[in-house]
Amino acid sequence: MANYSELTRKQQVRAYLVDHHDTWVDGTEIMNERVGGQRGGARIWDLRHQDGLTILERKHPDPNRDIHQYMLVMTASGAPPATPGPAAAPLCPICKRELGAVRETVSDAFAVGKCIVHGWVTIKR
Ligand SMILES: [Zn+2]
Repeated sequence: MANYSELTRKQQVRAYLVDHHDTWVDGTEIMNERVGGQRGGARIWDLRHQDGLTILERKHPDPNRDIHQYMLVMTASGAPPATPGPAAAPLCPICKRELGAVRETVSDAFAVGKCIVHGWVTIKR
């Protein structure tokens, strides 16, 4: 079982948004001492740009509430993993060097990446 106290602030915000996915969450729920800390907004930025999550943002519909709301959008193909690990760089199937410039192919079962020795190679996801 995950021990919440050992999660980073970013992981805590992510876990909260995953628990409440596709629902508008008040910013105050993820920018407090218990979850995201005062820099919860920076955690949102990290989750978008480092973890690639789709997080929508809007002003609270009640004009008297001067806060923002956030929503994690789950894709039809599946939720983001609940416990993200560091994304391991794919390896060249021939020489096992890390690949650069990895990108998905049309079929997302495969990706292509550039090996410094072998050039563009196709890898199974
Ligand atoms: Zn190689």
